[in-house]
Amino acid sequence: GGSSRGSWSSSSDSVISTDSVNPYRVVLLGAGGVGKTAFACIFSGAADSMDSDDCELCGGKDSEIHVDGEAATITLLDTWDNDGECAQECYMQSGDAFLLLYSITDRSSFLRASELRITLRRLRPAQHTPIILVGNKCDLVRRRQVSTNEGRTCAAIFDCKFIETSAAMQHNVWEAFHGIVRQLRLRRDSKDA
Ligand code: GDP
Repeated sequence: GGSSRGSWSSSSDSVISTDSVNPYRVVLLGAGGVGKTAFACIFSGAADSMDSDDCELCGGKDSEIHVDGEAATITLLDTWDNDGECAQECYMQSGDAFLLLYSITDRSSFLRASELRITLRRLRPAQHTPIILVGNKCDLVRRRQVSTNEGRTCAAIFDCKFIETSAAMQHNVWEAFHGIVRQLRLRRDSKDA
């Protein structure tokens, strides 16, 4: 007997309009355990599918997000602190923008963020690179080791934006992604001008 495979063939055209031909490469930097994977999963889960069980696969995919009524395509790159200097430096040189994460419950991760900022400045001198310093895990109020003021002051010294987030509560995570897109657009528009 014959069997039908039940596959659908669709010939509908889908038109995607985005502001950028090439995706923006946004890199997650920070010490181990600060929430980079959690960020990547939120980003990937909402933009692509509801099923984000396999968090290792979350990074490195293109996703389209809408910011201020305009679509932007982003490749989110997750780095692992134990990959060694070489891999991180490679990301630093190839990224368009950076989310520099620390955990508000872990002062050593805050110091690590400072080191990473200094490395970024060394690798990308004289470039206005969009960076947001992200104090994650702000839901863990009782375990806080880094005050909001310290984070804000540090960001001012580093010449970058600042936000506190909770990946666990999905608080301000999209604000961080939207903020980085806005900074990338500001840079794009000033280049065009
Ligand atoms: P990574 O090493 O930077 O990728 O960090 P992960 O995303 O793997 O997070 C490390 C641990 O912190 C995991 O157990 C996460 O569930 C937890 N975590 C991440 N973000 C938050 C947060 O905002 N709040 C709380 N309470 N836990 C978080």
